[in-house]
Amino acid sequence: MMLAEPLRLACPRCGATLYQRQLWSGNTLGARYYSDRKREAPMLPSFPSFSKCPKCGELFWVRDLKPSEDPDAPQWGPSEAYLDIIDLEDSVRFLEEKNETGLPEFTVRTQIWRLYNDRVRYRVDQRTRAENEAALWKSDADKERWRKNLERIDELTKEIAPDDAIFQAEIARELGRFDEAVAILEAAGKTGDPEGNYEARLVAKMREKCAASDPFVFQNSTRRSIL
Ligand SMILES: [Zn+2]
Repeated sequence: MMLAEPLRLACPRCGATLYQRQLWSGNTLGARYYSDRKREAPMLPSFPSFSKCPKCGELFWVRDLKPSEDPDAPQWGPSEAYLDIIDLEDSVRFLEEKNETGLPEFTVRTQIWRLYNDRVRYRVDQRTRAENEAALWKSDADKERWRKNLERIDELTKEIAPDDAIFQAEIARELGRFDEAVAILEAAGKTGDPEGNYEARLVAKMREKCAASDPFVFQNSTRRSIL
């Protein structure tokens, strides 16, 4: 992985110089892929499309930022001046402040969904169902916020990606609507194959999870079984 010179941008509220990393080249070696389509690739990091000023707390779309006007801003800023993916509470605040619809709303809500899933993502198979539920939802109100967010993603997906049966089935599965998830896969002819390509393995595992009434995010295997 090689980083290019970062963009130097200005906070729209306090004017601080903020840095957005830029990738010169990268690859997906060692990448992990999850059922909610989160990708973690050490050699291909993802940069935030919306973020927060570390100085004043302002939230914004990175694409809306103007170049920094500070002629003395160094080319490579201090680490705390780089824009990062913001946490769950800030993402919810951004969603409420912006109150957008369509693709921008979908972008923010899918990040919120994945941040919830991060609470269980890494040890999901080592915990009991009750332990995963306790890790995913901190209270009834928190669970309600999670559910409403995912139901809205479901609506938006039907508009934005009406042919993406696997994504729609995954949302239904994570909402606990297992029969619906299987029906979506069936209707799209997605039978799955644990020895097949990436998508076939993903579908096979989704169907297995539905049969076990398991709604939690999982990592899809990145290579074929050699047995
Ligand atoms: Zn600021």
